[in-house]
This record gives sequence, structure tokens and C-alpha cells, in this order.
Amino acid sequence: MTKTQTTASKTITDRNGSGNCLCGCGELVLTMGRSLYKPGHDARHAGNLGRLVAETGDDSLLAQLPTPALRAKAETVANNARAKAQAKADREAARAAKKAAKAEAPQVADDDDDEDLLPISEIKVGRWTYPVRRDPADREQLQRNERRDGSGNWIAL
Ligand SMILES: [Zn+2]
Repeated sequence: MTKTQTTASKTITDRNGSGNCLCGCGELVLTMGRSLYKPGHDARHAGNLGRLVAETGDDSLLAQLPTPALRAKAETVANNARAKAQAKADREAARAAKKAAKAEAPQVADDDDDEDLLPISEIKVGRWTYPVRRDPADREQLQRNERRDGSGNWIAL
């Protein structure tokens, strides 16, 4: 026994060990070394702060972490959480925009989308093929041109 009680106490205080776990769980860290956390709680602290940074946008919260490694981990968590939140916001915005567009003009929009989707683009009559289109007055009705170059009259199919 070479160390006195006083020396031991001083050492513990200087090293910040044997206090409440830094993660905020309130548990006492009983190790006598430099550990500021209960086992595994350092990662938990970084994760919690990372999510908080993503939520609040306050990067200065990272300064609460005692090591560069934990700050880096928290930043990764924050960036991932931000990316996830952004992706979710984008999806919701896209869904809302789609819904709004549909609510404004559902039928017209649908018909415009289908305009180019002809079941056939030309039809063979005898030896020749003729261009096919939808009847402008009746989108369900197909017509073919009486001339192969499309310059003639349109006839219902
Ligand atoms: Zn803890």
C-alpha cells in the first residue's frame, strides 16, 4: 500500500471517472479509470446527440461529446437522420403534388397520358400500311389515314 487515500481520491477526480455516466442515464460509473460512461453508453450518448442535432439543427451540441471519435459518430448519426427525414419529406411532397394534380384535373390528365399509347401505330391494308391515330372527337375511336403518308382523310377503323 504505497498510495494514500488522498492521492487516490485526487486521481479519480482529475480523471473524471467514477461519476455519473455522461450519457445522461444518471447511472454511476464505477470504474476507476478514465471511463466517463457505463459500457456501451458512449455510443448511446453519440446516437442520442446525433439525433438531437438532426432535429434541432444545432451542431454545437456535438461539443458535449468528450472525444473526436464520438463526435464523428454523432455527426454520422445526424447526417443519416437528416437524409432519412429529407427522403421522407420528398416522398410526402411528391405524393401531395400528385394528389393535388389529380384533384385539379383527373380526367384530362389521364387522357393526356394515354394519348401516345396507341395499341397500333399503323395498319396494313392490302399491300400497304397506313398511319393510325385516335379520333380527336372520340379518344376511344381509332382512325387510319387513306394515304400512306398521312396527307389524306382519316377513316374510322
Ligand atoms: Zn449512461
